[in-house]
Amino acid sequence: MNYQNSLAFASEQDALDPLKDFRSRFLIPQHHGKDAIYLCGNSLGLQPASAGKYITDQLNTWQNLAVEGWFQGNDPWLNYHKQLSASVSKIVGANENEVTVMNSLTVNLHLLMVSFYKPNTKRFKIIMEGGAFPSDQYAMESQVKFHGFDPKDAIVEIFPREGELTLHTEDIIQKINEHADELALVLFAGINYYTGQFFDLGAITRAAHNAGAYVGFDLAHAAGNVPLKLHDWGADFACWCSYKYMNSGPGGISGIFVHEKHFENKELDRFAGWWGYREDKRFLMAPGFDAAAGADGWQVSTSPILLLALFKASMAIFDNAGGINLRAKSMALTGYMEFLINEFNLQHGEEVFKIITPVNPQERGCQLSVVCRQNAKAIFKHLADNGVIGDWREPDVIRLSPVPLYNSFTDVFMAVQQMAAAIK
Ligand SMILES: *Cc1c(COP(=O)(O)O)cnc(C)c1O
Repeated sequence: MNYQNSLAFASEQDALDPLKDFRSRFLIPQHHGKDAIYLCGNSLGLQPASAGKYITDQLNTWQNLAVEGWFQGNDPWLNYHKQLSASVSKIVGANENEVTVMNSLTVNLHLLMVSFYKPNTKRFKIIMEGGAFPSDQYAMESQVKFHGFDPKDAIVEIFPREGELTLHTEDIIQKINEHADELALVLFAGINYYTGQFFDLGAITRAAHNAGAYVGFDLAHAAGNVPLKLHDWGADFACWCSYKYMNSGPGGISGIFVHEKHFENKELDRFAGWWGYREDKRFLMAPGFDAAAGADGWQVSTSPILLLALFKASMAIFDNAGGINLRAKSMALTGYMEFLINEFNLQHGEEVFKIITPVNPQERGCQLSVVCRQNAKAIFKHLADNGVIGDWREPDVIRLSPVPLYNSFTDVFMAVQQMAAAIK
C-alpha cells in the first residue's frame, strides 16, 4: 500500500475498510466525551457491545430455571463450552475436537505440562525464548523443580545475537539441534509479548520433532491476531488466553489445543476432573477416570458459564467477520503506524522512536513495540493525557497495537500525531 502522511488519507482508508461497521460492535472507552484511541488490545481487548446481553441471558436462565439450566433452555450449560469449539478451532487452525475452552492460561499451561513434560535423566531440558512472559518462566521453573531438576540445567533460553533484539529462526533450530539428545520439550510463545516477534511455529515444530521432543506453544499474543495452523504444523499442544485479541473480558476463559495424534495414547498422564469424564457416563459418578474424547478430555472443573457467555459474545463477532480478511487489514494498519513513525523520525532528523518489532510483516502481528529514546515516561504520560491508550513496559518501551476489528486508520494517524506532539 502507498501510505500518505495525512488525515485525509487515513479517512479515505477508513471509508474503504470492509470492517468499518465492526467498530460499532465494541464499546470504546471515552476521553473528554470522545472515543479514546485504544491501542491496547494486546493487553485487554475491548468489550463487545453485546456482552451485557449474553450475561443477562444466563442470569435469566439462572433465575428462571436455576439448577435445571444445566439441562434445559436454549443453551443448556452442560454443553455450553462445546458451542465455542467451532469458532475457536478456526482461529487456531485446528479440528474442532482438538480444542476446548477452560480455566485460565497459566493453569492450562501447567495442566498440559503434566501431559507433555515427562523428563527423565536423559531427556529433561526445556528450550524457550529468552525474555518469555514471566508467568511462563515461573511455570517452567516450577515444573522443572517439581520433577526434581535444577532450572539452571534444565531450562535453555535462546537470546538474540549480540546487538540484535529479535531471534533468527535458524538460531532457534540450531539451539534445538545442539540440545537434541537431552531435550524433552520446546515451549515457545507464538508472539513474544515484549518485542511483538511472531515466530516461525511450523519450523520450530519440525525441529523439535526431529530432535525427538514435544513442542507446545503459548498463543496468548497470537490467537485472534495472526493466522495459525496448529493441526497442520503438527504441534503437540498449545494454550492461550482470550482476553487479549479475543475480547472476552478481564481474566476471561482460556483455551487449549491437543493434537489428535495424542488422543489414543493411554500413556499420557493428565490431572483429571469430572468435567473431562466422558459425557454419556459422567453422571453415573462411577470410580475410575474415563476421559471424554478429544481435547474435552482435558477439562477438569464445572464450566464457568458467565465467562463462557462473554467469550461467546466475542466469538460471534469473529464468526460474523469470517469472510473478511482480518489479517489484511491488520497488516495495513500496523504498516501504516510503522510508516508514520518512520516519517516522524526522518523529519525530526533522529530516530527518537525505535521500533523493535520485526520489519517483515510475516514476523509480527498487529503490535509494534516502540523504544522511546528520550523522556520515555513523559511521552507515555502525554499519550495517556491525550486519550491515546497504549501500554508501558520497563524500561522504555511503549506497545501499540491497532486491532483490525475496532481500530481505524484515523486512530493510527492521531496516535502518531500525539507521539510527535509529545516530543515537541
Ligand atoms: C498474557 C499472558 C499470560 C497471562 O497468563 P494468565 O494465566 O492469563 O494470567 C501468560 N503468558 C503469556 C505469554 C501471556 O502473554
